[in-house]
Amino acid sequence: MLQIIRIHNELLGTYGDRGNADVLQFRAGLRDIKAKVIDVSYLDPLPKSGDIYLLGGAEDAAQLLSLTALRKGSILAHAANKGAVVLAICAGFQIIGTNYSTRDQENAGLGLLDVTTTPGDRRLVGDIAVQSPLFTVPMTGFENHSSVTTLGQDVQEFGTVITGNGNGVAGIDGAISNNIFGTYLHGPVLARNPEFADLLLERALGEALPTVIDELADHYAHWRRNVARRNVAKSSI
Ligand code: GLN
Repeated sequence: MLQIIRIHNELLGTYGDRGNADVLQFRAGLRDIKAKVIDVSYLDPLPKSGDIYLLGGAEDAAQLLSLTALRKGSILAHAANKGAVVLAICAGFQIIGTNYSTRDQENAGLGLLDVTTTPGDRRLVGDIAVQSPLFTVPMTGFENHSSVTTLGQDVQEFGTVITGNGNGVAGIDGAISNNIFGTYLHGPVLARNPEFADLLLERALGEALPTVIDELADHYAHWRRNVARRNVAKSSI
């Protein structure tokens, strides 16, 4: 049974990223792979045995509360070191970085990704499309953040921004290291990009997934490929 750990949705649920867990469970089910979604509140310790850990976006105060709770026991770092998959969106991405500062205070992050987040000078809101080397089709989503994120030596970007802002510097979005993925794409990103969900499942299982006939996802991928090709206006994503 694949264990999908949805972390602190009561804090990291502002942008609907909770749907990422449901998409993973659904797409595992398409292959007859049993998967369970486990919600963990910030009042409780994280399970150590998760296969996939998910963090979503949040407002600043909730984000700090979540970070403080996750520092206890360093369970997420241990799980990631053992190869568990981590997908962290926006505030979640900032939380798992090395450092996350707001205008009021500087915070050590969980240190899973070598990235540093600092306050930006405006809010970055709108549709976003990103071309990642991991996929033949662009990933799409929406973003809503004010901080900007700079990558260190030990990570690669998730992708190059086609439309939107992403990290807010260098025309890139997100960061990847082994099975740890950070990105600014809300959506939920896995609902909008089923290929990404399948990649995370493959990483968690350590093997290729059987191909499924999924006409809807194929049709959708075709549409997104055209979005990138024409580099259409934001409103069309
Ligand atoms: N509060 C953070 C920022 O504005 C994260 C926002 C979010 O998760 N959407 O950068």
